[in-house]
Amino acid sequence: MKIQRKQSLSFERPRRRMVEEQLIPRGVSDTRVLQAMATVPRHMFVDAALIGYAYQDSSLPIGEGQTISQPFMVARMSELLSLQGHERVLEIGTGCGYQTAVLSRLCQRVYSIERIPTLHTKARQNLRQARHANVMLKCGDGLLGWDEYAPFDAIIVTAGGFASDIWMQQLCEGGVLLMPEGEHGSHRLVRRRKLHEGVEEEYLDTCTFVPLLKGELRR
Ligand code: SAH
Repeated sequence: MKIQRKQSLSFERPRRRMVEEQLIPRGVSDTRVLQAMATVPRHMFVDAALIGYAYQDSSLPIGEGQTISQPFMVARMSELLSLQGHERVLEIGTGCGYQTAVLSRLCQRVYSIERIPTLHTKARQNLRQARHANVMLKCGDGLLGWDEYAPFDAIIVTAGGFASDIWMQQLCEGGVLLMPEGEHGSHRLVRRRKLHEGVEEEYLDTCTFVPLLKGELRR
């Protein structure tokens, strides 16, 4: 009885079901990504009132008009980075910190920038509670990148819009930029690899993200 209660509190079973029903059938196959998705406690990144929906197949509101991405999209984007474990990754759009937490299990260090101060603070608390240590957070405009820690092996953008030229400059040679690109409401995932000369570009899934906005939000 006690064990059952503990299991339901840790949400292990719904998390495993999420992996088996939402991720594997849709083609996510990187075992490290599946393991990270089966481990990171998504319910600790959503508001208490939404805890019952944490492992549902959808995005959820996190306040300030922003959302935590659908589990599949988090897994899909993580897989598209092909991380091996040694990389330093820059994330633009920390939100509640869930994608950050998943990435932190797949690479050496995640640097993540959020433009809305209340979300930046919330992400810090969530990541501390979920015990993710190899993460550095900053409140500011992600369009400027994070010069102090550049170059990065990968840059992932979790808001939709158009790429900042600075990001390519802050990538290592061979590094990858992954983002939902396009006008508001109609995005397409694009993966660009910085080569010795030029850039290799692939257009992938259509998707919808909250908008990538300029400047840190000040009140
Ligand atoms: N990765 C997040 C998704 C959050 S939604 C998660 O797993 O929950 C995208 C986030 O990008 C929003 O919180 C939004 O405020 C942020 N954002 C939008 N434009 C930004 C910018 N220029 N710099 C930093 N963050 C930005």
